Amino acid sequence: MRLRHIKGAEEQIAESPYVIQDPQGLKGKWHEFFGNQNPIRIEVGMGKGKFIMELAEKNPDVNYIGIELYSSVLLRGLQKRSQLELSNIYFMRIDALELADVFDAGEVDRIYLNFSDPWPKERHARRRLTSREFLARYEEILADGGLVEFKTDNRSLFDFSLEEVKESGWELLVCTYVLHHDKALMEGNVMTEYELKCSNLRNPVHELVIRKPNRNAE
Ligand code: SAM
Repeated sequence: MRLRHIKGAEEQIAESPYVIQDPQGLKGKWHEFFGNQNPIRIEVGMGKGKFIMELAEKNPDVNYIGIELYSSVLLRGLQKRSQLELSNIYFMRIDALELADVFDAGEVDRIYLNFSDPWPKERHARRRLTSREFLARYEEILADGGLVEFKTDNRSLFDFSLEEVKESGWELLVCTYVLHHDKALMEGNVMTEYELKCSNLRNPVHELVIRKPNRNAE
């Protein structure tokens, strides 16, 4: 998602109490920051943040951090955030490439990837958020047993992701090509903005859930 640049977006983000301004400074101190030992879950590429804000409302005992690359997109999320009385959700404007600069080993309990950019050209495969390079970054910051949950309507990206998961030795816990037809999986499913559009168009949504490998057991 890329919105037209909004004048003053950077300034508004820099002043927002909901945006972490120096996330690198909190590496290893996130539980201290939240003031509790609740699990920390992040969404990478949150867009306008509908999904993660709904999760935060539903689960007050979980800490959430929404990550978005573009200021103009994040700004839209902030407008909604300001209407909510929540202490368990913050945002940061960083590139997913920087995750290991922001989180210490094992600090994150779960990572959500929703309708990530497909980067269809082969030479851009490493930029896909489910590439083996990104899985290795997630492995660094996830706690033992930590999960990645990924939803998309892009079949090529989904099939690519399954290959990368296999190559990287992650455990595949859930794999469906038709999430919205799976009653059990739909229980508690929170729709993202893109997912709502897919649902309205009756486009199938694919989902996988994977667990970080236990390298000690190998
Ligand atoms: N997750 C939302 C949803 O499902 O409605 C938005 C999906 S949108 C297609 C993908 C989002 O990921 C965009 O807002 C884009 O700016 C963001 N994004 C793409 N690459 C990113 C990266 N490397 N780091 C952080 N965010 C990224």
